[in-house]
Amino acid sequence: MTDSEDRMSNMLTEDAVGIDLGTTNSAAAWIDEKGHSVMIRSTEGELLTPSVVLFDDDETIVGKSARAASTVHPDQVAQWVKRDMGFHVYHQPIRGRYFPPEVIQACILRKLKDDIVAELDTVGQTVITVPAYFDEPRRKGTADAGEMAGLNVLDIVNEPTAAALAFGERLGFLNASGSTAEEMTVLVYDLGGGTFDVTLLHMAPGRIQTIATDGDVQLGGHDWDLRLLDFAAEQFIESGGPDPRQDPAAFGRLYVAVEEAKHTLSARNRASIRIDHARHCHAVDVTREQFADMTADLLERTVYTTRQVLTDAGISWDKISRLLLVGGSTRMPMVVEKLQQMSGIRPDRTVNPDEAVARGAALYARFLLNQRAGRQTGYQVSNVNSHSLGVEGIDPETMRKTKVTLIPRNTPLPATFTDRFTIKRAGQQSIVVQVLEGESSSPDDCTQIGRTVVRDLPPNLPMGAPIDVTFSYQSNGRLEIHTQIPGMAQPCRLTIQRSSGLSDGRIADWRGSVSAAAGFDRMAALAVTEEPRAALSLASLPLPEALTPSPPPEPPVPPDAGPVVSQPAQAEADRPNDGQTHFTTSRRSSTLRFWVLLTGWILSSVVGLAVGYLLVLWLFPEIDLPRPW
Ligand code: AMP
Repeated sequence: MTDSEDRMSNMLTEDAVGIDLGTTNSAAAWIDEKGHSVMIRSTEGELLTPSVVLFDDDETIVGKSARAASTVHPDQVAQWVKRDMGFHVYHQPIRGRYFPPEVIQACILRKLKDDIVAELDTVGQTVITVPAYFDEPRRKGTADAGEMAGLNVLDIVNEPTAAALAFGERLGFLNASGSTAEEMTVLVYDLGGGTFDVTLLHMAPGRIQTIATDGDVQLGGHDWDLRLLDFAAEQFIESGGPDPRQDPAAFGRLYVAVEEAKHTLSARNRASIRIDHARHCHAVDVTREQFADMTADLLERTVYTTRQVLTDAGISWDKISRLLLVGGSTRMPMVVEKLQQMSGIRPDRTVNPDEAVARGAALYARFLLNQRAGRQTGYQVSNVNSHSLGVEGIDPETMRKTKVTLIPRNTPLPATFTDRFTIKRAGQQSIVVQVLEGESSSPDDCTQIGRTVVRDLPPNLPMGAPIDVTFSYQSNGRLEIHTQIPGMAQPCRLTIQRSSGLSDGRIADWRGSVSAAAGFDRMAALAVTEEPRAALSLASLPLPEALTPSPPPEPPVPPDAGPVVSQPAQAEADRPNDGQTHFTTSRRSSTLRFWVLLTGWILSSVVGLAVGYLLVLWLFPEIDLPRPW
């Protein structure tokens, strides 16, 4: 048997596993011998594992006990980490150290892996889910987390696609003939603990096709909790107590209490939150109506995005056959009422909103294993990109930097675009292209995925020689870039210097500690002591692991570069490629610095003039100067 045959037969015999890596809770499922999705219980006997990590001295603990510890040792616990994906580090220090979010996500995945092995004896081939609205660097971070956890990551898939698969399984869409169900357009409204997604899908026998998607990676049940927490804290202060939000342990206890009250309000009209802090005790009563009022704007944001997706797709509510609810926060009655009122459709809970995504991910894993083994899958799954892909270029009219869109949002995937770049001077050795993701025309407001550097161009290329660079979004939303000189068999060497995320070397360093469930004592050596936090949507700041002492100069963009950057990058190419991402200074911050300096200069000039004027009046009173008083 050859290596590839061997691998193929292993795939066929291996279990197909799906993991829903949620902001608040995570879950796993697998496909049994009959082809049905089955949830996997944790070793604690639960279907859901809280996505919370406790960094103890000699081990990392994930799940319920970690969540319980958050009220006692808040500085040792990390939670809602999924919302920090795309940032260089988790927003709070853990015992004085800053950890990359993908490392903490890897700890959660490692715990789920152990639970899967306890149930199935093997880890299986795994698909991990991500919000449809996750951008490319967040997707890469999730795949890296899986790798650090020691999982066999087959692929990543969008949560609404997974939910639709679980729904399709329940309705009989996914059998080989697919003859049991009619065609329908489905809207998946997914409001979890930390993220929100809305996705339109077309389902037909044997086919599940995403039409459009939108969302918000900073909106979820956590925001509803914080509103209720603020309300309770204010009431407590009014009753004469100190602000519990100022004390991390009291904050942790109050958070647990308000989340419980929120759940109660899904079942009853009234709930009570008891706060016992600094020897002051008070019970705060809250009604469902009050809760709905204080969070109305959050719900409105989801409604706005939902309408936007329908508008983008050119579809009206009367064309939607089903409205699927996914994510624990869709249990809030206000969500169901609002959606029903807006759409005239009764929301569908055919599949348990806590289980739909994990089940669907397992079904997708089975689908991929069958597909890769050349076996009948019975249906097809297709996706769209949630963010436009572009490159930085120069607007010929304004001569300002602009984003040139290559693959617009909601393009069916995989999507490929080839652009031709030309050499600006004879003998040029490399070309740099800044790759961007986002909808804004301003590069500063897009996610800077990184720089593509085409290196080692053949010597003696004449000025104007063409180079084709092909950008392609894979069906999982990950980016691949290839390059080719027309007429030459040999492709050029190409590297992507990413603006965020861990380098391969750092992933390898972390893998050992994560897979051994090592505790803080061992992990601290790899973490950093200062917070180098930066949003991906802004220009990059230094990475936590970046050892580069000073920012390299941004390659100049020639005024005649045309719509895309086609640029000698000798400095870039000559710098040793250390696997680290290099960073650039923010254009926005330099603009801000200019205005601050200008304002300071004007103010000091005015004050200087006034002082000089008064001095002259005082020293030489005989001079007849105009006096404003
Ligand atoms: P998920 O990320 O899908 O696991 O959803 C977790 C979120 O759902 C958390 O914010 C939970 O507080 C919330 N949630 C779970 N059950 C309920 C419920 N009965 N009522 C309101 N919110 C809930």
